Amino acid sequence: MQFIDLQAQYQHLKTRIDKRIQTVLDHGNYIMGPEVQELEEKLAEYVGVKHAITCANGTDALTLAMMVLDIKAGDAVFCPTFTFFATAETIAFANATPVFVDSDAETFNICPIDLEKRINKTIAEGKLIPKAIIAVDLFGLPANYPEIEKIATKYGLKLIEDAAQGFGGAIHGKKAGSFGDIATTSFFPAKPLGCYGDGGAIFTNNDEYAELVRSYRVHGKGQDKYDNVRIGINSRLDTIQAAILLEKLAEFPVELISRNKVAKKYQNELKDKFKTQQVAEGYMSSWAQYTVTDENRNGVMAAYKEKGIPTAIYYETCMHQQTAFKKLGYKIGDFPTAELLSKSVFSLPMHPYIAI
Ligand SMILES: *Cc1c(COP(=O)(O)O)cnc(C)c1O
Repeated sequence: MQFIDLQAQYQHLKTRIDKRIQTVLDHGNYIMGPEVQELEEKLAEYVGVKHAITCANGTDALTLAMMVLDIKAGDAVFCPTFTFFATAETIAFANATPVFVDSDAETFNICPIDLEKRINKTIAEGKLIPKAIIAVDLFGLPANYPEIEKIATKYGLKLIEDAAQGFGGAIHGKKAGSFGDIATTSFFPAKPLGCYGDGGAIFTNNDEYAELVRSYRVHGKGQDKYDNVRIGINSRLDTIQAAILLEKLAEFPVELISRNKVAKKYQNELKDKFKTQQVAEGYMSSWAQYTVTDENRNGVMAAYKEKGIPTAIYYETCMHQQTAFKKLGYKIGDFPTAELLSKSVFSLPMHPYIAI
């Protein structure tokens, strides 16, 4: 049994994917070829936003969001401490300060109550300017946007949805990638919608932001890439990856149903054994990971291994415990729920081709 079976997916889509790749090899437009534009249109349509703009990876997507929102030194950006490093890294990379927030014990996502506490604390301290919130759709489950959006509005903060793991999720039918001012995703192979290398995208309904992203991703281009009106980066999605993603996106709705079937089966079988990630009424997860908690996870994981079932830990170290963020001065005990999660979570095999 595989933790994520990309090979089974490739075998299923082989004819279509091979044909798409061959088309790119035949026309030879490897950078910003027609498949990139086609994919961006289909992504925007799927997510239900005005603009989808692809880029080189999910980390760059967040960095581009930071650039568009002009996040800089002296700014505070709030994000969960229990997430993948890139969420917090891109805040620091923009020279701003990540202000970490504890998790909700049921959903494992950013806790809106703690978020508001940390915003008020930052305001009271008066050292940083509260600028934005990055909420993460952890393991495929959309964060609590109804509450987070209220907080963002109340304090005049920008909201970024880090949907790197969340593509395909939804809240009452509103899709992941459509929350906040800007949303980002990743097409890293292991994500719910992955390509065969690195890839990412930015989603927004804001025309001005979309135009800025299109400029920043190609060296701050103006009229063309030799007319440079601002300092940007080089972050494009390869045409071959776009071609692969077009076929994977076409299959994605079917895969999403399969992922949810696998999750339901796990839920039925494991709910009395472990604490599982809770999907609130009206929420839909894309199940990037199926994650449970057990305080004796080492024993449980070893037992699964004996049975030939691979498991993995996402994530063993919270952001406030990372060496790179030591200088922020957090200590153990500052984020009790996230710390408990980091000590007790483990994930079971999850992909749409598990035979159930
Ligand atoms: C994977 C991931 C990213 C970064 O995506 P890459 O494409 O690997 O750069 C950012 N945030 C979260 C929450 C992720 O899981």
